[in-house]
Amino acid sequence: METGYAAVAITRLQDYCPPAYLIDSVALDVDIRDGVTTVTSSLSLRRNPVSPESTVMTFNGEGLTLRTLALDDVVLDSSRYRYENDLLTVQGLPATCTLTSVVDIEPENNTALEGLYQSNGMICTQCEAEGFRRITFFPDRPDVLARFTTTVRADKARYPLLLSNGNPVAWGDEKSHGEEGARHWVTWEDPFPKPCYLFALVAGDLACLEDTFVTVSGRKVALRLYAEHRDLDKLDHAMASLKNAMRWDEQTYGREYDLDIYMIVAVSHFNMGAMENKGLNIFNTSCVLAHPATTTDAGFQRVESVVAHEYFHNWSGNRVTCRDWFQLSLKEGFTVFRDQEFSADMHSAAVKRVEDVDFLVNHQFPEDQGPMAHAVRPEKYQKIDNFYTLTIYEKGAEIVRMQYHLLGAENFRKATDHYFEINDGKAVTCDDFVASMEAVSGYDLSQFKRWYSQAGTPILTVTDEYRDGQYHLRFRQHTPATPGQEQKQPLVIPIRLALLDEQGAPCALDAGGNGAAEGEQVVIMDQAEQTVSFNVPAGVTPSLLRGFSAPVVLDYDYSVDQLARLLAYDSDGYCRWNAAQRLYFAALDRLVTETDEADAEAAALVPVLEQVIARSDEDPAQAALLLSLPGEVALGDRHKPLNPASIHRAHSAMKKALGKALQSHWLSLSENLLATELSMDGRAMGRRQLRNLALDFLAAGEHPEAGRLAVELFELPLCMSEELGALRALVHHGLPGADQALTQFADRWQDEALVMDQWFAVQASVPGAHTVEQVSRLLEHPAFDWKTPNRVRALVGTFTNGNPSAFHAENGSGYQLFSAALSRLDAINPQVAARLANGAARLPVLEPGRKALLTERLAEVKKTASGNVVEVLGRILAS
Ligand SMILES: [Zn+2]
Repeated sequence: METGYAAVAITRLQDYCPPAYLIDSVALDVDIRDGVTTVTSSLSLRRNPVSPESTVMTFNGEGLTLRTLALDDVVLDSSRYRYENDLLTVQGLPATCTLTSVVDIEPENNTALEGLYQSNGMICTQCEAEGFRRITFFPDRPDVLARFTTTVRADKARYPLLLSNGNPVAWGDEKSHGEEGARHWVTWEDPFPKPCYLFALVAGDLACLEDTFVTVSGRKVALRLYAEHRDLDKLDHAMASLKNAMRWDEQTYGREYDLDIYMIVAVSHFNMGAMENKGLNIFNTSCVLAHPATTTDAGFQRVESVVAHEYFHNWSGNRVTCRDWFQLSLKEGFTVFRDQEFSADMHSAAVKRVEDVDFLVNHQFPEDQGPMAHAVRPEKYQKIDNFYTLTIYEKGAEIVRMQYHLLGAENFRKATDHYFEINDGKAVTCDDFVASMEAVSGYDLSQFKRWYSQAGTPILTVTDEYRDGQYHLRFRQHTPATPGQEQKQPLVIPIRLALLDEQGAPCALDAGGNGAAEGEQVVIMDQAEQTVSFNVPAGVTPSLLRGFSAPVVLDYDYSVDQLARLLAYDSDGYCRWNAAQRLYFAALDRLVTETDEADAEAAALVPVLEQVIARSDEDPAQAALLLSLPGEVALGDRHKPLNPASIHRAHSAMKKALGKALQSHWLSLSENLLATELSMDGRAMGRRQLRNLALDFLAAGEHPEAGRLAVELFELPLCMSEELGALRALVHHGLPGADQALTQFADRWQDEALVMDQWFAVQASVPGAHTVEQVSRLLEHPAFDWKTPNRVRALVGTFTNGNPSAFHAENGSGYQLFSAALSRLDAINPQVAARLANGAARLPVLEPGRKALLTERLAEVKKTASGNVVEVLGRILAS
């Protein structure tokens, strides 16, 4: 225990204990008034049959001003209860009773954005994971499921719209209260029992886009999307996405929507992306608003997938929920897998898979290999908010994906049907999910389940030899130690593979079951070492982990010729992309020590890249992925100790050399891919992506036409992807007209918050130490606001996580900026601050000079930090 730091209690999985009392129903009355909102709650308590002796129950409550507490309508004497340390303990409870509390809260002063808070004049909620305790007393844990009836009261003119979960059952005007003017109320009833983290309430003056959806059984559902009046024209894409998602879930999982209304509300102040509250989703504006003029193509795709994700939670999360927060991946991993498959079905499945793998290996792998490494089902936490991580979400999805492939599509569907059927209305565990997989397939997945409990990224080392007329592949797996988990056991690793002959054609393989396609085989590895032999001619190239069949680091010593063959001929999108990445990394690694060789390294890559460019019309989005250099962060993770300045030198030298070596191609792609009219289909988006990339390379290669092309595009863009691509090229490469473009862009979009976020992000991501000063200036910009998480993420988050050569400036100025920002933000919003603190996770691998500078800053911040930030910084500093 270090002295001087705040102590934060640890919650452990092994200590799970069912609640002493259950709650059958909740009647809430939320009376919204200026300054103070009064919440009256009546809880129908029933002793939990598993704890027949209980007469005491504790309720969570944070920052509540208790006015009265009554048991079965009799006001309780203060000797019967205690409210301290955010817990209300009530004694002498009968087997069944009603506990009524009246509390005051102040949503206007809630900057943590958890519980009930104000955003641009609207009152809204965020309760997952533990926000409900800031609204009223309640056992704030996901295994207490209750039926909610909620009455909301407020001023009619300011809050014409009063929403909560379920269906509206009664409404009316309140009698006049003198000066306050006319007030009104609405009562909502949610027939489905739910944990309190799914509670939602919205009061505001909002515009609505309305539509209907007829479910597979013929029920008519009202779909209502709400946003500020000025944003009404930005809801069409979300509506279309929602209807697609509803249909897809019926067809793919047999899941039908269950209430009469489905609502989404867009909120500009939001800690996360979106929240799946039953029947009343609340979304960060960035995940629901979309219009070609203001939203990039990537933004459109994000809206589609987040709308689908939250909708899918209605079954995977709401109807079947988590027993405790250690099981968070039960709902998140499964639902991410579902939304990934939905997006794959809506667009190019190959491109989608590569994008997801790219994200996983460049973001989740570093988390899994650094101080924040934790299992998909962790054993302990201090603040559950800190565990909404890529490991829980993205690695969790990979674990579900492996089960999907192990069982095959048909059995997997039977297993999910089984899971939903037997667990409907219950709070369950990851074990229950796997049990359904085992029940329908007859497979024993007990060893497979180590994926849930073992942290760290396994390394799969593959060697091969041709001997006695056979080709032998030898696999070895090893998972490095992670904090608190020294010893690792062998995992079940499905290895989907093919063997390409010298002409690049797949050899005939014995599929051997396990869902392998033609020319493929799936090896199920469950030992530390395994060898597999094949009757194929000599000289084959192994195409390994096809479709990225397991979330592991592949260590196989490919030759340059083999990689070129995979890139040119492999039918698997992931393996082609991986081959390109390996070629880039090999060249970049050499340049970290030998910067002068950039032209030679680029020249060696030209023939293979020209092949990709020649085929780019087949699938422009895939070509863009294949032609994209790995980022500086990913390159830096290969070099220990880490010196971000030498990484930056190598990276920019390579980009410049490729810009020059392929300049005629970049020029023709920049010119020929220019569209004359706007289309938002996948192919048009792919062409824009490829053209923006070409323009970036053209500018990196200092081509004289780059500036003209960027300015022309910036002046007359068809959509935000074009406008932003041009702005980025101008600003990142310091082209003439960059400053003017920034001014023009800010003038044009000053009233569009999400576009201004991009304006901040473009500037925060300019590589080089000089950007520290620019970010400092932008922190003082009138449009910068510490209380808006999107704005903070756009500026400080982009700087910290996406600009290593500035963040790690040698003189420590980036660390100074970061630590000051972290402390300032922590005082306002600890949850968002803790997420920002993760930006320092590479501390242990930094070269000694930078490490000392950053350590000093972090230790200073930690002295006065919130519990959320203390947990993150504590782990980073201890490693
Ligand atoms: Zn989710």
